[in-house]
Formats: sequence, C-alpha cells, structure tokens
Amino acid sequence: MKSFRKELWFHVPTRRAFVNITRQVSEFLLECGVREGLILVNAMHITASVFINDDEPGLHHDYEQWLEDLAPHEPVSRYRHNAGEDNADAHLKRQIMGREVVVAISNGRMDFGPWEQIFYGEFDGGRQKRVLVKIIGE
Ligand code: ZN
Repeated sequence: MKSFRKELWFHVPTRRAFVNITRQVSEFLLECGVREGLILVNAMHITASVFINDDEPGLHHDYEQWLEDLAPHEPVSRYRHNAGEDNADAHLKRQIMGREVVVAISNGRMDFGPWEQIFYGEFDGGRQKRVLVKIIGE
C-alpha cells in the first residue's frame, strides 16, 4: 500500500464562502497514480469545513441562509466564545457542515454518486487556511 499527503491552501477574502475543490483533489489523485484506495479530505481549521454536495448556486445560497438562521454571526455578543474574538458562529457552522469527507478510489478515479462535488466551506475567512488530502491505496 502507498500513501500520499498534500496540503491545499486557501485565502478566502470574505468571511464565508464555499469553494469547489474537486478538481484540485482529482489532479492530486492522478499525480499519485493510485488506482484502488481511499481519499480523506479534511479541513485543518476549526472554523472551516469540507463536505460533499451539489455545485448549485441556489443550494449554496440556501446553506448560507440556513447556517445564518442556526448560528447568526451578529450580534457577536450572544456567544460566550466571543471573549476577544468574533468567530463563535464559525465554530458552530463548521460543526454542522462537517470536518472531512472520505471518497473511494475505483479504477484511478474518485467514485462519486451523481452530482457529488467536494467543497471547502469557509466560515471565518480573511486569512490563510488549509485542507489536508491523504490518499492511501495502490
Ligand atoms: Zn474561535
């Protein structure tokens, strides 16, 4: 069995955004040449997520609205975590959108269901953050 590791770096200028990272992950898989195995993709920050869903702008708008309904950014004073920072909502949003995804590799490709794409979910942007990609297999 072989294993490969890569960090993908992001600097999202806005506080929140969803970034489709499927192409970057799939290019790394091609570089590694693994034909059968697993890919783990995880956010390395506790205010960002990695998740799989559809690349459809209406859905991304719905996520944004739903997450703001659940954990609004303002007023920042509503959260105990916000003693000296303002990102409590980002920790909560990350929790519900998840830390990581695992994708099967079959015949050298990510074995997705229909419309599945991998996203980086940023909830406290404006700085450098990263995602870990780990590939194991042969
Ligand atoms: Zn925090």
